[in-house]
Amino acid sequence: MSRLGIGEAIQRVVESLSRTSDSSEVVSTIARAARQMMGADEAYMLLRDGGKLVLHAADGLPPELLGRSFLRAGEGVEGWVADQGEAVAVWDAARERRFRDLPGREGRVRSMAAVPMKLRDDVIGVLAAAGVEPSSLVGSRLTGLEILAGIAAVAIENERLLSEERSRVRQAEMLVELASSRESDLAIFLERVTESVTAVLDVSDAELALRDEAGRELITRRRTGVGSWAGRSRVDGEGSPLERPWAQQVLSTGGPILQSDTTQDSSTALEYQQSGVRSLLAVPIQVGGKRRGVLRVGKAEPNAFRQEDLAFLTVIATQVGLLVERDELARRELEVSREQARQAARQEFLGLASHELKTPVAVLKAYIELLTRRAELEPSRNGDREVLDRMLEQADRMLAMIEQLLDLQRLETGQFALEEAHFDLVELARRVAENLQLTAQSHQLQVVAGGKEMVSADRRRVEEVLFNLTENAVKYSPNGGKITITIGRWRAPGRDSEDLLVSVSDEGIGIPPLELNRVFDRFYQGSGGFRRGHVGLGLGLYIAREIVERHGGRIWAESTRGEGSTFYFTLPIASEPVVGNRE
Ligand code: ADP
Repeated sequence: MSRLGIGEAIQRVVESLSRTSDSSEVVSTIARAARQMMGADEAYMLLRDGGKLVLHAADGLPPELLGRSFLRAGEGVEGWVADQGEAVAVWDAARERRFRDLPGREGRVRSMAAVPMKLRDDVIGVLAAAGVEPSSLVGSRLTGLEILAGIAAVAIENERLLSEERSRVRQAEMLVELASSRESDLAIFLERVTESVTAVLDVSDAELALRDEAGRELITRRRTGVGSWAGRSRVDGEGSPLERPWAQQVLSTGGPILQSDTTQDSSTALEYQQSGVRSLLAVPIQVGGKRRGVLRVGKAEPNAFRQEDLAFLTVIATQVGLLVERDELARRELEVSREQARQAARQEFLGLASHELKTPVAVLKAYIELLTRRAELEPSRNGDREVLDRMLEQADRMLAMIEQLLDLQRLETGQFALEEAHFDLVELARRVAENLQLTAQSHQLQVVAGGKEMVSADRRRVEEVLFNLTENAVKYSPNGGKITITIGRWRAPGRDSEDLLVSVSDEGIGIPPLELNRVFDRFYQGSGGFRRGHVGLGLGLYIAREIVERHGGRIWAESTRGEGSTFYFTLPIASEPVVGNRE
């Protein structure tokens, strides 16, 4: 092949520069022109990357060597040139002690010319030409090689500046897009982020793994190149990305990981085996101050990421965290308002239904009473009396349940007002006991108290509490027995004044220890009640607790299964009524 003159070589390179802005084409043209101009068997360009020299373009060398590094800075003739920034011509490789052969050449190279690729005061790489003949590379052409090296340096720098500029623009665009995202489906949103990150950072592999509020993992990933795929779900057989060592490190330290070569680290070597990723960059995603996920990108080449990429990924992860937080907050608010609407609808229904039920049951009761009176007057219909009594009892029960439902609705809608009165609790307890005694023949009801005990409270509501507890005592002691209402003064541990303490004890079925705290819950019905077929709503104790607590008292229960239960409640003792005007 005839040699190119220096002018011709430069002309070819300039032509290619005007034809394309693709720097890889330009550097290939430069390598070819360099080889032809020097009459060499091979020409190549090595670029400095950290402490290494990486093959960037070549003519006459196998293309699979591109991207690989053979020499460290300072090593070989090329390394010396890169370090010193001076051109070197080797007439006979055998006599040049700096000479190092590149792999695969098998000692064929005998002569070489290497010039620095300078950019202002920096040496960014080396352009070299090598031949199998000694002294075949004419020293006078070294100037031509230097000119080509200069053009290559500028072309590479331009490309670098251009691509930096482009990627800055893409990054800014992505941030704007992210900040204005209105996507309401979290999984789709995360998928878009992964997709954008892949494009903007030009990575071969990106993965975003995040735990949602419920602790479920949301995983999105994207892989480009051979066997490319994108997916939301976990790949079968592959563990959770959040459990891999690098993710654990990011999650536990909160710091990022910038791995320049995954093959060199045992904790990331597996990653390389699975995905072929050599450069790895991972940052944590914080949601509401908690580390909930990781964002990771990977490239097949080593040393692919810089600090700027890390900064960008950190900004993205921060944005994702903020948006997820905003989204979760909005979701929670929506849930709260939905729940409020549900509650309101339920209350309204409860109120309406109980009101509507109350009238017909009351009418039914009136008719039963009428029939009872007629039966009383006609001795021949005496047999009906028992039936009518039962009917009346059931109607009363229904009315009591409706009243409980109405109370529940009043409690939950804040319409449960107390009317304060000054009265004797002992006298009230006696009346309740006497009333209940009428229908509870197998039980002995008694009230134990010193003398009068005055309280300032809502008389009707306190009666309801007493009635409920005593009625339960009857209901849940099917074999009869003693039921005692005790009223006395009591000082609770840690309090400096006394309260009135009322207890209602029975010798009934008792309450299993696990149920003891739950009997005061709304709609709670214990296992004992169900078994014995009692009709009830599980509201009595709930309402009783509300009433007692609204009076500033406390209510609790003690029980031994099979031996009986005692329910306690306290009420503040009424201060002596003040005579005269109050301030
Ligand atoms: P209801 O009696 O309508 O089921 P309550 O709120 O009055 O509702 O009582 C809740 C549950 O507490 C009952 O279902 C029952 O299991 C239990 N319970 C209440 N009082 C007693 C008692 N004296 N002895 C045994 N269990 C009781």
